[in-house]
Amino acid sequence: MAGCYIHIPFCAQKCSYCDFHFSTNHTYQSEMVDMLCKEIEIRAKDWKQEQFETIYFGGGTPSVLTTPQLDQLISRVKENYQLSNSVEITMECNPDDCSLENLSNWKELGVNRLSIGIQSFNDEQLKWMNRSHQAADSLNAVRNAKEVGFDELSLDLMYGLPNMTLEEWKEQLLQIIALNPEHISAYCLTVEQKTALSKWVKEGKLVVSNNDQQSEQFELLVSTLKEAGYEQYEISNFARNGHYSKHNTSYWKGATYLGIGPSAHGYNQVERYWNQSNNRTYLTELKKGHLPETVETLTPFDRFNENLMIGLRTKWGVSKQSLFESISPDKEWFQIVKDYEDKKLVLQTEEQILLTPAGRLLADAIASDLFIIDTSTALSVL
Ligand code: SF4
Repeated sequence: MAGCYIHIPFCAQKCSYCDFHFSTNHTYQSEMVDMLCKEIEIRAKDWKQEQFETIYFGGGTPSVLTTPQLDQLISRVKENYQLSNSVEITMECNPDDCSLENLSNWKELGVNRLSIGIQSFNDEQLKWMNRSHQAADSLNAVRNAKEVGFDELSLDLMYGLPNMTLEEWKEQLLQIIALNPEHISAYCLTVEQKTALSKWVKEGKLVVSNNDQQSEQFELLVSTLKEAGYEQYEISNFARNGHYSKHNTSYWKGATYLGIGPSAHGYNQVERYWNQSNNRTYLTELKKGHLPETVETLTPFDRFNENLMIGLRTKWGVSKQSLFESISPDKEWFQIVKDYEDKKLVLQTEEQILLTPAGRLLADAIASDLFIIDTSTALSVL
């Protein structure tokens, strides 16, 4: 079982909080699609044995692709890789790209799941975020998607926004629930370096929410969505009736994934690679027939720590069997787990280690406490 991620490194404009890899210069978009196709072909020889269950177009903004460009990419994947009969093909899209015409074209090309970046239903907030859409576009996008027959919709929302009150957040949650999507992703705003947001915060022009406010909003998110029938299956992801994202779930469960495009990562259970996060370098290298990648072989410590960090965020937790395949922890490690259990932040079954609802608020801190450091390397570096 494997997934294929394709990074489309273009956006209509730069959102004020975003540090993902993309360009707003679209003049070489068709050249980029040609080189993405070339990377798809070059990597095929090493991935021939895999059957792909999912294709995920992320970015950037995949919905800026023209229909022929999307067709070119999907066709190239189909020609070069084995796909499952029930392959999930997800496309991240901006609400203002979701016209009836675009949606019908995407559906015809085989896209069967949409992840729509709503982020907020408040036009003032969308404005300082420098989003390219307004709240009305989100409502249209969802209506159009349903009209065209998309029945796997995921909607994204953000919390922890400056000056956001609990009442406002509740109002936003009720609005998203009213749209009745199968899946909701909700992320807390973070201040990333080298973004407009970080500059405004440093200059005192914007005050972001503090940890207590973020925790309150997170708790309201979890309880409100639970009441509406959404299951929290990962810290930031909620689904009704088992409509989990197949692509992200396989990644969280440690499956193999192929990454295509600038800044994309891939993992084959032994090695991990990541492509250059620079569009020009990516194009130059691919034109010469080179993969613009850095490859690293994962040590047992890397595998153990990654497994923990990702697995603990999910409702399935981390499997002890797969965790202990990499490393057998010592008594002290088990004592740390026990201490968290006593504090009702962690649960253990015979097979799994899981976080409790209270533990999910501290997921990253708990995972990093349980990381095991390779002291032999640490000593040799010293
Ligand atoms: S559309 Fe998405 S990827 Fe593009 S700038 Fe905005 S948040 Fe970043």
